[in-house]
Amino acid sequence: MKVVLWGTRGSLPAAGHSTARYGGNTSSVQVIADDGTMLALDAGSGIRPLGGKMLSGKRVDLLLTHLHMDHVQGLGFFAPMYVPGLEVHIWGPSSTTHGLADRLRRYLSPPLFPVRLRDLPCKLHIHELLRDPVQIGPFNIRTDVVCHPGATLGYRIEADGKVLTYLPDHEPALGVGGSMLKRGWTSGHLLAQGSDLLIHDAQYDDLEYPSRIGWGHSTIRHALEFATLCDARRLVTFHHDPSHDDDRLDTMMAHLNSLGPKMPVIGGSEGHEYDLNTLP
Ligand SMILES: [Zn+2]
Ligand SMILES: [Zn+2]
Repeated sequence: MKVVLWGTRGSLPAAGHSTARYGGNTSSVQVIADDGTMLALDAGSGIRPLGGKMLSGKRVDLLLTHLHMDHVQGLGFFAPMYVPGLEVHIWGPSSTTHGLADRLRRYLSPPLFPVRLRDLPCKLHIHELLRDPVQIGPFNIRTDVVCHPGATLGYRIEADGKVLTYLPDHEPALGVGGSMLKRGWTSGHLLAQGSDLLIHDAQYDDLEYPSRIGWGHSTIRHALEFATLCDARRLVTFHHDPSHDDDRLDTMMAHLNSLGPKMPVIGGSEGHEYDLNTLP
């Protein structure tokens, strides 16, 4: 299994020279199984360039964690949706009051967007997920609701004997005094347990967090504590704050490494590619 990061930023795109290394596009990740089957995770602004790489197959699958703007703002620019007859499957959460299709229509309709969902030429299939496992080609996918405002899913994706866990927006420290409890009581632990690669929210540093408790995000320290609790084999920090430039993120990563991580920690950067078969 290979994983490619197309957007690593949280909350809002942050284009410019000062964010060029870690990247300015919001959440979008490509997963490629050994047989070439692909998944797209989230439709942040990074999905626009990713879309062009997903036109070769007979179907396209896009998994949404939730419908905050930074995770859907690229949806209207996802090239497969404009290919007549191409099967496009969108998977994601409903809310307690509205189905997923209804919720997507709110964005893909005027005045927010000129093209309506129903006018897209692709063959669109929308699937609501909660906790039932899903099989897409070689991918065995498990989901669960995780700690973040609104209906939000995390994903555990298994294929080719490897496990990727994707938790871009996640505040497992909420309500537990800022540090993790036992595994059984921590949001997301079942999804992340023993994963080969954990992509996890690491939006804040320790100084920022006290004024942002309950906003649904983690500090880099929380991300490391969570990865340690779940015995993740590698941690990729993700959902960087739009106000953090490359130098600031370098400083945060240096701090994270000074905490003595038990696994390799990698600052998630746009364009990074990880081959789970060969990662050290
Ligand atoms: Zn987000
Ligand atoms: Zn969010």
